[in-house]
Amino acid sequence: MALKDLLIICGGEFLIINWIEGLDRCFAGLQKSLTSIRSLKGDRKYYEYRRTALPYIVWITENLKYGDLSSLSLDYESYILECSAGSRPESDFARLRQSLFNQPVTTILAADLETQLQASQTIQSHPNMKDVGSPHYVKKASYYHHYAGLPRPSQLSTMDPSNKKLYGDALRAHTLLTRKLGSVGLLYLLFKDYYGFTGVKQLWKSLPFATRFLTKMKVNRLFGEVFVKKYHGRYGTNKIIDRLLEESGWYVTEDVDFRTGAVRKILLDYYSGLWKYHNAVKTALEEYDKSRKIYETLTPERITYLRTGLEQLRDAYRVLSIVGRLNPATDFRSGNRLGKIPTDLDYNNFEQTMKKLGFEPELPTFEIEHCDKCSGKGGSSNRVCNTCQGWGVTGLPSSVKRLIPKMMYSSQDVSSYKKQDALERGYNYIYGRLNFGRTEQTDYQIESIDQMLTALDLLEKGIKPKV
Ligand SMILES: [Zn+2]
Repeated sequence: MALKDLLIICGGEFLIINWIEGLDRCFAGLQKSLTSIRSLKGDRKYYEYRRTALPYIVWITENLKYGDLSSLSLDYESYILECSAGSRPESDFARLRQSLFNQPVTTILAADLETQLQASQTIQSHPNMKDVGSPHYVKKASYYHHYAGLPRPSQLSTMDPSNKKLYGDALRAHTLLTRKLGSVGLLYLLFKDYYGFTGVKQLWKSLPFATRFLTKMKVNRLFGEVFVKKYHGRYGTNKIIDRLLEESGWYVTEDVDFRTGAVRKILLDYYSGLWKYHNAVKTALEEYDKSRKIYETLTPERITYLRTGLEQLRDAYRVLSIVGRLNPATDFRSGNRLGKIPTDLDYNNFEQTMKKLGFEPELPTFEIEHCDKCSGKGGSSNRVCNTCQGWGVTGLPSSVKRLIPKMMYSSQDVSSYKKQDALERGYNYIYGRLNFGRTEQTDYQIESIDQMLTALDLLEKGIKPKV
């Protein structure tokens, strides 16, 4: 390995493999023989060019694999993203930190409904809470038959009559049933045969064992008093609810729709919202605190270090993008086994770019010859060349053959989808996607490095240098 690997550990968990002076050492200039290619014409120019470039290609496929580079990119990206997230001011999270939903589940459930709904309304507009289902009624115009959480009494007046009746019943049921069973008791009653509802199970499970145990005893005793048989499913639960409401002075008619589930679903949605809000607030704060710690490891010196590393990584992608384009790309699925040769290569540009990147690695040495039998094409449109077996050159060591795409593949080479796929994936790991001379993958990586550098600039502005 020509690159000098260095390790940095950031924020305890992040491992970044960087090279600082590695590329300087490996890159430095290009063989003069490339210059002579300029005078050649047509196809010959490409083949001679490829032959000359082969040692470079081999070196790069062994040392700058796309797969390795992209995993390095991901390490940089996660670190920079963590730093960006951690650079947000504490005040952005004050509303969440002070919220009832940052308390243990027992405390949240023990609060009265008005306090819970007020607390969720307070944080509803926070960016971290926007897509989280609230325990508080939020009108969802686009969802037919989608129930929302419980409304505050003031919201009832603006609802259309059918919703007003439904949500009014749900509110009243909540008041009467929690008076009888407590909030945890009602949760258990609703949950015991309806545990598929997202979040309700987690809410129940995050209560202390003793609370759950005593609640179960209390609620199940009710069932024992009413029913002789042990299990009645939802029917049994509805009967208990009816009885509890009747005892509270609300004589249940078919209007209170526990049987078809509407009121029950509103209540379940409210409980599920309590969990989702608690979970979202806790997660947001934990993530922020974690990012904050990582952000604190970002010193001006480290920014410089990261920037240099990213710029070198970008250079490496550029080199890879160039050699990727030098290789004959073959669309196996189209049935054509002959590699498509890129025609838009700018040789002068290649030489200049390599020089600029300081490309001077210790190249592998081997004698290869341009195959005159097939004019370097690897074969005709249906026969692979006997002399070079499709490589377009002779004398390639076998270790090199697996790194470089052939000019033409035999029908044996690509006889199954599995073989085609293995070939494609092998080359993609080395070059990024080899796609008819186009280089979307490396282009994308270069673009994302530019974005990371911009993010670093922004972070740098926020950090005061140490005096
Ligand atoms: Zn040949």
